[in-house]
Amino acid sequence: MLDPVSSPRLTAGAAAGRWRAVLARDPAADGRFVFAVRSTGIYCRPSCPARRPRRDQVSFYGGPAEAERAGYRACRRCHPREDSMHDQQATLIRQACDFIERAPDAPPSLAALGRHIGYSPYHLHRMFRRFTGVTPRQYAEAVRGRRLRGGLGAGAPVTDAMLAKAGADDWLMRRGNFANWGFSTLDQINTGNVGGLRLAWAWNMELGYQEEAPLAHEGVLFLAQPRNVVQALDGRTGDLLWEYRRELPKVEGGYHNDLFSRARGTIALHDDKVFLATADAHIVASTRTLVK
Ligand SMILES: [Zn+2]
Repeated sequence: MLDPVSSPRLTAGAAAGRWRAVLARDPAADGRFVFAVRSTGIYCRPSCPARRPRRDQVSFYGGPAEAERAGYRACRRCHPREDSMHDQQATLIRQACDFIERAPDAPPSLAALGRHIGYSPYHLHRMFRRFTGVTPRQYAEAVRGRRLRGGLGAGAPVTDAMLAKAGADDWLMRRGNFANWGFSTLDQINTGNVGGLRLAWAWNMELGYQEEAPLAHEGVLFLAQPRNVVQALDGRTGDLLWEYRRELPKVEGGYHNDLFSRARGTIALHDDKVFLATADAHIVASTRTLVK
């Protein structure tokens, strides 16, 4: 019943890093993975005070659910199923973001923000940066910029220069740039913290065939979908900001219906518009007037 194989896709280097965190009883690793001990059938959080097992008895899992699926029981000393420190911190930082978003005019001071979530200004600054990749001030400036341009996420016009040299924060065309890279230069997620990523929100897309990667501009995700539907979502919350639907002609026969239910790389951003190459062979340009 006990599965000797660790989580799939864990490289030898990543496993070695996890083992080091276990040996160090590193509390910062809590919530990022759990380790399971074959001889006892028990899994623990990395910081568990219990005696360390032999390395060859240990396998790693992304979280409690995964370890339990492999047949392990939760340790009674470190209670790995309870909210980890990491999750609690993430929740608090999320509350700090909301506090900034709701502040009517001037951004709240570090002290006020810290009081709101119960952190000292110093600790808040450090944790905020660790979870969001920016400082509270930078976050507040981004919120303010969005407000000044009117409407959540309407976004600055997309220029030729921006398309030619997109910043790492944006993903303005299907493959990221004209050189067809297909990968992002963002470095906020790395091998050290990727295990701590959690699902923030989910979204039901239109019925059909799709492997669509959204375009991203100033925190708004533009999603081309089957049957001539384009949606703009708030990347942080998953809220729907804007939608375009173009009615399809009635057609007989499977071939055309099949064609209508596919979408891939059918949108582009330029100036203040979203362009859609429709399934019924039109090009539609629509202004990105987003509603809150
Ligand atoms: Zn334990």
